[in-house]
Amino acid sequence: ILASGRVLLNDDGHSIGALIVLRDVTQLRHLETVRSDFVANVSHELKTPITSIKGFVETLLSDEWNHQPDILRFLEIINQQSSRLNAIIDDLLTLSRLEQKEGRVMKEDSQLAGVLENAIYLCQLQASKKNICIELTCPDDLTLSINAPLLEQALVNLIINSIKYSDPDKKVMLFAEKQKELAVIYVKDEGFGIERKHLDRLFERFYRVDTARSRKLGGTGLGLSIVKHIIQAHDGSIRVESQVGEGSTFIISLPLNPPPKTNEKK
Ligand code: ADP
Repeated sequence: ILASGRVLLNDDGHSIGALIVLRDVTQLRHLETVRSDFVANVSHELKTPITSIKGFVETLLSDEWNHQPDILRFLEIINQQSSRLNAIIDDLLTLSRLEQKEGRVMKEDSQLAGVLENAIYLCQLQASKKNICIELTCPDDLTLSINAPLLEQALVNLIINSIKYSDPDKKVMLFAEKQKELAVIYVKDEGFGIERKHLDRLFERFYRVDTARSRKLGGTGLGLSIVKHIIQAHDGSIRVESQVGEGSTFIISLPLNPPPKTNEKK
């Protein structure tokens, strides 16, 4: 709390009271911390691949270095790290676009089953590399007002995570149903699971349970944060249930009849 005060004087210069202003700046301070943490994280995430790329390029260029057999290996690392940089920047741009238009994305009535099928189709290649089977159960008549490409992207992020954080030969299950005024979508895997203590922070930008493993698997640490923004832009919510060694379930709830936006023209 920030406090400031001053004595109030009348025209004769006599004190007639005091004015004390107390401002609760907790929220403001919290936002400042989140912002500066984010900038520090972005810088660190971008610097890691750049340092690696620069190191290998300098080695390739140096006069003393002439070990030909390593050239291909070094170029491969440089290529990988460049792709990593690209992926981080793409995800940062997606996040910033979503933040700009939060709650104002274009929506159209779409059949949920079709959106889920498309998302699964986009993940099929990754799934087959680990012999993971993706199952879908969704009623055909479930129609929602959504931005289909964005919801598809959120689902792809969740399915790809399920594939990445599972052993080969497991299953990923997508299940959707109507619950009163909501459409509820479950993305369930039989993967490594997540310890309880991480669950609250999982949707934060750059939060990972195991940074080394995430990086090795090509993760940017922004996937779930993007998912959360997409779901929020649909006035929905997302939560996760998980058991280490058994698997995780991400549960999305979307309103069947979203509330009209106040800034929308009647
Ligand atoms: P990343 O690019 O690291 O995968 P995400 O934001 O998508 O970033 O996920 C954040 C972290 O949450 C991951 O690093 C991983 O530790 C954990 N995680 C996400 N999905 C799953 C899952 N299905 N099973 C186990 N862990 C998961």
